[in-house]
Amino acid sequence: MSLSYADVEAAAGRIDGIAHRTPVLTSRTADRLTGASLFFKAEPLQRAGAFKFRGACNAIAALSPEQRRRGVLAFSSGNHAQAIAYAGALQNVPTVIVMPHDAPAIKVAATRGYGAEIVSYDRYKEDREAVSRQLAEARGLSMIPPYDHPDVIAGQGTAVKELIEEVGPLDVLLVCLGGGGLLAGSCLAARALSPEVEIWGVEPEAGNDGQQSLAKGEVVRIPVPVSIADGALTTHLGQHTFPIIQREAAGIVTATDAQLVAAMRFFVERMKLVVEPTGCLAAAAAFEGAVPVAGKRVGVILSGGNVDPAALGRHLAA
Ligand SMILES: *Cc1c(COP(=O)(O)O)cnc(C)c1O
Repeated sequence: MSLSYADVEAAAGRIDGIAHRTPVLTSRTADRLTGASLFFKAEPLQRAGAFKFRGACNAIAALSPEQRRRGVLAFSSGNHAQAIAYAGALQNVPTVIVMPHDAPAIKVAATRGYGAEIVSYDRYKEDREAVSRQLAEARGLSMIPPYDHPDVIAGQGTAVKELIEEVGPLDVLLVCLGGGGLLAGSCLAARALSPEVEIWGVEPEAGNDGQQSLAKGEVVRIPVPVSIADGALTTHLGQHTFPIIQREAAGIVTATDAQLVAAMRFFVERMKLVVEPTGCLAAAAAFEGAVPVAGKRVGVILSGGNVDPAALGRHLAA
């Protein structure tokens, strides 16, 4: 069964009243710097601090009563874990989270705080999918992956649905990209609500597997990238996300860590908004000219705001 905009609409109905309808922010300074009209969808202000709450909420809401009783398992470098833990707590569903041993402290603490059980693994030595699958089978848990799952993709698409409903049709849409759940969902929503829009994915320069995949016409796997964009350290796109991105996206561009820091500084100084490094990818593409935006109406997804205050300070002081 292939995903469509109807799935995004269904997700919007399920998460209504649970997920926040986040604000769309504008900045005259950002518009002056780029010559564009930029509309920033502020997912740092989403519950659990990132858009991932949307997909998590939708995926848990779609489970059967028996599946909910047994509980769910998620593997994640952070935001998906928090999202599943929180969405599970709100819906009285037990959660087990498989996290890398070096996940940011703020994300581990927040996840545990929502009542999830944490199981850690070594991201450079062990395969998180294999670790997770064994655990899920042994305990009868439903596995909800961070991006390659139809209900997750449909849930993530609700951010762009809200954005376009609020500001009207766009010329360009910029969306950050790890495994492509957010980008694929955004493609479904944007193509339905603003058919002419040009949709661009933005990923870390150090991990441009998405760009390589589009060039090659198939999913390319890379080693775990090293970047401050810890929400986008994925090694490959998904079997569900790639075909949608291949069909709908104009292309994928990249941003360097230095460009992400510059964007983080802009949001703190000018817009009083904490955006985590990964959350700055799409904005960096607009600010740095990786995608031409002058004279255009541009949607920019700020995907999350979960950054250790100490790490934020180090980035901004450097
Ligand atoms: C997970 C995440 C991403 C990447 O999302 P995908 O659906 O894996 O492409 C981007 N930004 C933040 C803040 C995230 O948590």
